[in-house]
Amino acid sequence: MDTQLQVYNTLTRQKEVFKPINPPLVGMYVCGPTVYSDVHLGNCRTFVSFDLIYRYLQHLGYKVRYVRNITDAGHLEGDRDEGDDKFTKKAKLEQLEPMEIVQKYTLGFHDVMRLLNTLPPSIEPTATGHITEQIEMVKQILDSGFAYEVNGTVYFDVEKYAEANNYTILTNRQIEEMLANTRELGGQDEKKGRLDFALWIKAKPEHLMRWPSPWGWGFPGWHIECSAMSKKYLGDTFDIHGGGMDLAATHHTNEIAQSQACNHSQPANYWMHTNMLTVNGTRMSKSAGNGFLPGELFTGNHPLLNRAYSPMTVRFFMLQAHYRSTLDFSNEALEASDKGFKRLMNAVALLDKLKPAAVSEVDIAALKERAYAAMNDDFNSPVLIAELFEAVRIINSVYDGKLNLKQEDIDALVQLVNTFVFEVLGLNYDDQQSDDLGGLMDLLIQIRTEAKQNQDYATSDKIRMALDSLGIQLKDSKEGTTWTKA
Ligand code: AMP
Ligand code: ZN
Repeated sequence: MDTQLQVYNTLTRQKEVFKPINPPLVGMYVCGPTVYSDVHLGNCRTFVSFDLIYRYLQHLGYKVRYVRNITDAGHLEGDRDEGDDKFTKKAKLEQLEPMEIVQKYTLGFHDVMRLLNTLPPSIEPTATGHITEQIEMVKQILDSGFAYEVNGTVYFDVEKYAEANNYTILTNRQIEEMLANTRELGGQDEKKGRLDFALWIKAKPEHLMRWPSPWGWGFPGWHIECSAMSKKYLGDTFDIHGGGMDLAATHHTNEIAQSQACNHSQPANYWMHTNMLTVNGTRMSKSAGNGFLPGELFTGNHPLLNRAYSPMTVRFFMLQAHYRSTLDFSNEALEASDKGFKRLMNAVALLDKLKPAAVSEVDIAALKERAYAAMNDDFNSPVLIAELFEAVRIINSVYDGKLNLKQEDIDALVQLVNTFVFEVLGLNYDDQQSDDLGGLMDLLIQIRTEAKQNQDYATSDKIRMALDSLGIQLKDSKEGTTWTKA
C-alpha cells in the first residue's frame, strides 16, 4: 500500500505516516454508544467521523476490521464508580426490563446510523455478551498485581501501576493535577487510592443486571469492556483506537492501563479522537440537556430549529469541519450546509449531461491530486469539500458551454465525484427530496410539453415562469426538456 496517509496520533501528539502492523489488514476499535437513551447529534458526529475514516481506509485498499461496541451494562452515573446504574434507573423509569431498554435504544441508534449513511462496523460486540472475557481479564490483572479486591469489588491500583508505567501517557496530564481534581477518600470508600477505578463492581440488592464471578455477584466496570473486546477481536496490539475527545482523560487512559497490566503491551498504535459538537460553545451532552436528537432535526420538531434538515444535509454539515476541530451547531450553519449540499448534488446530477469538446481547458488530474492530498492529510474533509466545489464550478461551466473538457477529462471528473462524494464522504441524494422533486418535475414537464403541442402557450409560459421563480430552470432541446436547480 503505497500511500502517504498521515494520521494525527493523540499518543505522540503529532501527525505520523500511517503504518499498519500487518497490511493490508487494519484493526480499528471505536467506543460505541451507551444505549440507555437516544444518541444525540454529538454522539453521531463521532460515528460519522469514524465512518469517513473507515471509508477512506477501505478506499485506499486496506481491509479494515472495524469493531464498534455497544455499551449495554456497567455504566454508572458518576465517572468514579459512584451513583446509580444508568440502565437500571432507566428501566425503572420506563417500566421496562433493562434488556428492553438496551434493545429499544440499540434499534434507534441503528436507524439513525442508517439515515446518516454510515457503514455498519464489521463487528458490533456488546458488553453483556462478553462478561466471561471481562472476568478473565480482571483475573489476569489481579494476577499481575495491579488490582485488589475489597468486599466483592475489584479495583485497579493506579498508584502501583504509575510507579512503573506512564499512567497519563495519552493526555500528558500530571498525576498531581488529576489528584487535585478528584475528591478526597472518605471513611466509606473501599478503594485505596483516589484515582483507582473499578474493574468489577459488587451488585447492590436493587441492581438488576448482575453476573456471577469469582468475587461474587456483580457487573463489569465502565472501562474493562473495551479492553476485553478489543483484545478478543483485534489482538493485544492493534492499529487504531478511537472515540470522542472526552474519553481520552479517563476511559481511554484506564483502557491503556488495563491492557498494559494484562497483556504487557500498548493496546493501540494510533489513538484518534474526534472533537466535540457544541451548542453555543458548550459541549452537546445528555447531562447538559442541550442534546439535539437526530430525529428532531430530520422533522424540525424542536423549539430552537427554524425548520427540518435532511440527514444528508446533517452529514454534510458534520463533514464540513475537520474531525479534530469543534463544530458549533446553529440554524445558520445548517442552512449554509443545506445550500452547499444542494449546490454540490445539483452539479453532480449534471455530470451525465456534459458534452465533450476537442480540448480541455482545466487540469482534472491536478484536481484529483489535491483531493487525495486533502484526505491524506489526516482525513481533511473540509479541504476536500473545497476541492469538490471547484469541481462544481467546472461542471456548471462545462454544462453552460463556457468551459471546454475532452471526453477523457469528463470521465475523470465522473470518477472523481464517484470516489469522493459517494464512496469517501458517503453522501447521497436525499431520497425523499430527489424522488419527490424528480417525480413532480417529470409531471410538470409533461403537462408543459402537451400544452405547447396544443399551442396553449399561456399555460406553458406560466409553468416556466413559476419554476423560474423557484430557482428551477428548464432547458429545451431536440432531445426534450431538462431542468436544473440553482
Ligand atoms: P456515549 O454514548 O456518551 O458513551 O458516547 C458515545 C460516543 O460519542 C463517544 O465516543 C463520545 O466520546 C462521543 N461524544 C459524546 N458527546 C459528544 C459530542 N458533543 N460531540 C462529539 N462526540 C461526542
Ligand atoms: Zn470504550
